[in-house]
Amino acid sequence: LKIAILKETAADERRVAMIPSVAQRIAKLGASLVLEQGGGAAATYTDAAYTQAGITTEADQQKLLGDADIVLAVQPPSVDTVKKMKPGSLLVSFIYAKTQPDLVKALRDGKITTFAMELIPRISRAQAMDALSSQAALAGYYAPLLGCVHMQKILPMMTTAVGSLRAARVLVMGLGVAGLQALATAHRLGAVCEGYDVRPETKEEAESVGARFVDTGVDARGAGGYARELTPEEKTKVRAALSQHIAQADLIITTAAVPGKHAPRLIDADQLAAMKEGSVVVDMGAPNGGNCEGTKAGEIIKVGPVTLVGPTNLPSCLAAQASELYAKNIYNLLEQVVHDGTLKPDFTDDVIKGTTLTHDGAITNDAIKQFIE
Ligand code: NAD
Repeated sequence: LKIAILKETAADERRVAMIPSVAQRIAKLGASLVLEQGGGAAATYTDAAYTQAGITTEADQQKLLGDADIVLAVQPPSVDTVKKMKPGSLLVSFIYAKTQPDLVKALRDGKITTFAMELIPRISRAQAMDALSSQAALAGYYAPLLGCVHMQKILPMMTTAVGSLRAARVLVMGLGVAGLQALATAHRLGAVCEGYDVRPETKEEAESVGARFVDTGVDARGAGGYARELTPEEKTKVRAALSQHIAQADLIITTAAVPGKHAPRLIDADQLAAMKEGSVVVDMGAPNGGNCEGTKAGEIIKVGPVTLVGPTNLPSCLAAQASELYAKNIYNLLEQVVHDGTLKPDFTDDVIKGTTLTHDGAITNDAIKQFIE
């Protein structure tokens, strides 16, 4: 069983899908692994480190993929890359199918079995495979650090010979996996922290990491433990409850998301204009349209008193460990489908079924199939 590890090509992507130590564990499942030459370098894993772990490298992508049974990647590969894969082989990668119709058709037509990492069900049994969570946790940790770089203030209270500096106020909006890590990090750095979400259970979670919960009185729990979109009346209520907290913040981190929808708008232009001079907003919703009015994905801009930061790939900023966690997520997934050196997915298993996007010449995910075909 040959497993190929692709070198990522997206401009801001430093991660690699498999790191040497985890590759060694996969080899014990009865597989031989080959890395596309230089594939781990940007994430601090040199070719020499792979070689030491018994992983060979290959510069020619056609040779790498032509006889590979399983191909591992982080970002959706190009259609050209997919065309080099052999029919019946398995691709494990983030795909984001709705934004990649041509890729999905190429996977279907090439008879590739695709495990789309973003489709891993968010259930207890699949937690160890949940790459959305592992990457969001690191992104959330990094967001306050990124915010700090653009502030002209420190986060903690500090007593100096010439007087005391007050602690900064940090507001995190959206308390999923990323938001809670952002709150925990800002709290550890000494900020006075507030958190807000539309799922009431996040109150206790925010308090458990040392933050105060801003209760807007709106409960928007939706299906599957996710939030639903707010009604216009709820939006007005939330806006009124939050405006003062937004105005007082030195740093705001927004992470709100509703599955399948544009990022919900949490800060409008008037609220932004009412913020303190020198304050910073890190908008983690940037790739999905932004939680803040005016956010530009991939850019850092000044809007009135505020520096508005729109990061598009925070996990890549922590590529060494983001790759480590992603590689472990993949290991836990492959362990379910590789037995005695043979690929034998059980498509009746809930996790495998939920994660499979294409198989045997068909799009097997109904929602994506309807969207694309
Ligand atoms: P996400 O990235 O989809 O959304 C981030 C947060 O934004 C969520 O907490 C959501 O409630 C919030 N949000 C949406 N609209 C909002 C609005 N208008 N204002 C403020 N906040 C808003 O979330 P996620 O981190 O992927 O996690 C979503 C859920 O899935 C959580 O309940 C989490 O506990 C759960 N989860 C379960 C598992 C598991 O069991 N394996 C793993 C990860 C996450």
